[in-house]
Amino acid sequence: MLLERRKWKRMQFYSLNNPEHKVSFKQALIRGLAPDKGLYFPDDIPCLKSDFLERLPKMNVPQIAFEVLFPFVSDDITEADFEQLCKEAFDFEFPVIQIEDRVSVLELFHGPSQAFKDVGARFMASCMSYFDKEEGSLNILVATSGDTGGAVAAGFYDQPGINVHILFPQGKVSKYQEFQLTSLGKNIHCYPVQGDFDLCQSIVKEAFVDEKLMKFVNLSSANSINIGRWLAQILYYFVAYRNMENPEELTISVPSGNFGNIAAGILAKKMGLPIKHLIAATNQNDTIPRFMASGNYDPKPTKPSISNAMDVSNPSNFIRIENLLDFNKSYFSSLSFSDGDALLAIKKVFKDSGYIMEPHGATAYIGLKQTNYKGNGLFLATAHPYKFREVMPSELVDKIHLDDQSEWGNYTAKNKHEIRNYQDFYAHILNSDFHRK
Ligand SMILES: *Cc1c(COP(=O)(O)O)cnc(C)c1O
Repeated sequence: MLLERRKWKRMQFYSLNNPEHKVSFKQALIRGLAPDKGLYFPDDIPCLKSDFLERLPKMNVPQIAFEVLFPFVSDDITEADFEQLCKEAFDFEFPVIQIEDRVSVLELFHGPSQAFKDVGARFMASCMSYFDKEEGSLNILVATSGDTGGAVAAGFYDQPGINVHILFPQGKVSKYQEFQLTSLGKNIHCYPVQGDFDLCQSIVKEAFVDEKLMKFVNLSSANSINIGRWLAQILYYFVAYRNMENPEELTISVPSGNFGNIAAGILAKKMGLPIKHLIAATNQNDTIPRFMASGNYDPKPTKPSISNAMDVSNPSNFIRIENLLDFNKSYFSSLSFSDGDALLAIKKVFKDSGYIMEPHGATAYIGLKQTNYKGNGLFLATAHPYKFREVMPSELVDKIHLDDQSEWGNYTAKNKHEIRNYQDFYAHILNSDFHRK
């Protein structure tokens, strides 16, 4: 065992609605949400081995992933299998670039869908596929407003035994996001829904409570609260620490919507990674910054913004943060910024350093700059600017390119089924690409 854990203790996951309800990693992963609708949470936080930071500079990404994630899964996956799984799931880099004195950026968009959700989605997909060998065949359902679907599609693509069904609001995702959702084919099925994201989500929810349906198909969700998607994100923080020239006295600012990423940062700190302070930067959907200032939890209706992957007013992962912080809020803060703030910062940073931020990363950048930190600062860039070029300042649009632009304008959608409501969806399932029990 590489991490020091009390040897006699098995890692289990409990429902945050009821500490008595405990399950294994595998059950938590496949169920997604506990039967009482609580989020799963580890009942023990593993400690880094005392020489971990000394060894860290020589470790590659899959080795780091293996060492920090194995304690969470060790009851269900063998050491050798998990080593192999990490090699396959984490085969891209997370570069750190210094853009100003004591300000660096961690780029999390070098995975297949150019957004940081790739790490969680790929880890979850690899674990599900691993367990699926014993379980029979699975159908994954997910509703997306854009980024999640692309990461889930890429993560599960060609995983044996798993069919994926992605619902998205027709005409309301960007062209490039639609390409990522609809072009893969094989085991990835997509459903343009005539309606908004809420309708997509309600169709998915209806499927999960449909007892008639559940009798003949195995359904599982790839929602962002899934323990597999959440836990894998601790990796960014360990890799950032390895990649920074000066990681001492480190303050990290994270663009936050559902607060899963920042919650993983707090978990990494509690495992022993020396992070001094963590900042959750939000757009105008500012429930948590207001809560931190006033103590009142008072979500307002969600307001659309140019950083739309953070348009969340009731962040589902905040309850995990409260459990991790244990009333010690001294190393956590949260700040909110407007679209105008983000656009100004994008222009200024480009003018001063030539670096191009997109609106999510820019929000984290401002969060860092407005915090009076000593030591070194890092902010997380969660998407490639190409994904958000429709909202970028016009003078920058022509300067934004993907490394591999391979003629994506010229694709045909595959496995695409238009639906309007749950009845349409159900009818499709009946004659269909769903694995039967
Ligand atoms: C999902 C997403 C976020 C928000 O991450 P959370 O873990 O939900 O806080 C930020 N930026 C981008 C680009 C995203 O896709």
